[in-house]
Amino acid sequence: MNTNLFLELGDDSPLNRIKTYFDALQNSADEYLFAMDVSTGQVMLSKNFVRDFNFPDAIVEDFATLLTPFVWHDDREILEDAIAQLDSATPGVEIFGEFRLLNRNGEYGWVTLRMTAGADEFGQPELVAGVIARMDLKLKADYVTGLLNRNAFYSDLRKELNSSPNARGAVIFVGLDNFQLISETYGYEFGDNALKQLAQDITNILPPDIRLYKLDNDMFAFYVSDVYPEEIEIIFSSIQLCMREIRNIEDTIFCTASGGAAFYPDDADDVINLTRYAEVALEFARQKGKDQVAFFDTEYYDRWRYDIGMQNLMQNSIARGCEDFFLCYQPQVDAKTGKLVGAEALLRWYDRDGSVVAPMQFIPLLERSRMIIPVGHWIIENAVKTAKRWHEFMPNFEISVNISLYQLEEQMFYDFVKDCIDRYQIDPRTLVFELTESNKVYDWDYVNKQFNAFHELGIKIAMDDFGMGYANLAFLKNFKCNQVKIDRFFVEDIVNSEYDRQIIKHVIMMCHAVGMEVVIEGVEDEATYIFLRDVCNADVIQGFYFGYPETEDVFVKRFEQ
Ligand code: C2E
Ligand code: CA
Ligand code: CA
Repeated sequence: MNTNLFLELGDDSPLNRIKTYFDALQNSADEYLFAMDVSTGQVMLSKNFVRDFNFPDAIVEDFATLLTPFVWHDDREILEDAIAQLDSATPGVEIFGEFRLLNRNGEYGWVTLRMTAGADEFGQPELVAGVIARMDLKLKADYVTGLLNRNAFYSDLRKELNSSPNARGAVIFVGLDNFQLISETYGYEFGDNALKQLAQDITNILPPDIRLYKLDNDMFAFYVSDVYPEEIEIIFSSIQLCMREIRNIEDTIFCTASGGAAFYPDDADDVINLTRYAEVALEFARQKGKDQVAFFDTEYYDRWRYDIGMQNLMQNSIARGCEDFFLCYQPQVDAKTGKLVGAEALLRWYDRDGSVVAPMQFIPLLERSRMIIPVGHWIIENAVKTAKRWHEFMPNFEISVNISLYQLEEQMFYDFVKDCIDRYQIDPRTLVFELTESNKVYDWDYVNKQFNAFHELGIKIAMDDFGMGYANLAFLKNFKCNQVKIDRFFVEDIVNSEYDRQIIKHVIMMCHAVGMEVVIEGVEDEATYIFLRDVCNADVIQGFYFGYPETEDVFVKRFEQ
């Protein structure tokens, strides 16, 4: 786990001195609080800040940069002005600004920002204390279900937990599964209807002394005192039992719900973290397949937090033109002659500490957050640029680029690729798109259309990781590819296993029979290579035996040999 994501406060930091007050304040306030050390620029954030904006940590250095993306674009100047005034702030004089800020529902709401600088013993500004207050915070009811909302939940929970030093209990979150999708498919009225019914049903099954609250989007929450995990499971099963068909005139769908629970005081001993952890547990239940309840788990939470931290860093890096990303190239050789014919572009990313992160660690994250779209453009641009340079040495040199199916769903992608090819004036037949697996494709028809359009442009299409996941015979039947890349899994054991040798031989024969070129990945030794060359008639080989992925500077030396 990378610990460099989280900044530490120095012992002599004035932030350390006020930390106790800060903690006390943040536990009793609904506003976003922050305090800035003027000399270092370090900013301490309240927990709700970290939670609502997924900031990497409670201590950050680039507060304004982190916050700006959440501010309505027309209002960003107001924030900038306020921050700029800090440079010449007079201690005790308030700096004030009003702007629109994104809330947890993905809507912009008006907030007021107030900051005041405190002076050190020489009268110079030392600490700035700041508050951001949402103007709608005084509203306490959810307008769809009529239940009390998040603000009410927080203040009631705070009272409950403070009621006795021995208070114990659990916060339980319940969320309607696929709410977003249901609303998008059947309309928002339908979605609201589902929420209303669920609100009614849960209220009916909860004991009368337990109050149900409606939080953002599709989430409900309640607090149960003196409860054991088994009892929560029972409560949740009765919620599952009351899930039912939701109807409108044309459609009837069956809804499911997921739940998450966090215990007080074992998991967290304050309102903000307790609710945050219950929400994390709900997320966990959904990742495990929905329609179930999960309990807060530190290991899962750490991983989740790490992902969020990484996601933030990547977002920043993308905003700066994909600054910390780079491509490596792995040689591909003609199986018959062993001569260099092409390369696969493989994405890498520099972490904050300068270490290189492998794609398996961040590609799923890029895909989930759709950041793969801007990064995908950057990959194409750079791979094409490199192809152009290398064509001076070898005009037919092929560069393969990994394309996740998500990218094909993007409307602008084709135009971007076409434009890149035109700008750099390269022969599209030297470009190969390797389709990598993605778990979710909503619109196969559209993907297929895109796919054919690239075909017509002259770009070669390769099916990556053949034999694994989506890349199977059925897929080959529907999508006409030029090339099949056979996964390392099928070759890693062929030296030892006659069975594996037979399989690979016949798979290659079959691909050849339907006119496809076969690239074998993950060839690590000579014996494997010779078998693939002499017995299987493989076309192209890629693997550590012929070369590791290398940076462009290193790779280019191969042309000079
Ligand atoms: P992949 O497309 O199957 O890429 C081949 C992976 O196998 C690379 O790992 C490569 O370093 C590794 N490899 C190549 N030869 C050998 C070998 O002889 N032995 C062994 N053990 N491994 C070998 P890498 O670079 O870590 O990439 C992992 C995966 O990440 C790729 O699998 C691909 O699915 C994805 N990926 C990489 N770059 C991109 C990209 O630019 N865009 C997208 N969407 N996915 C990418
Ligand atoms: Ca690949
Ligand atoms: Ca592969």
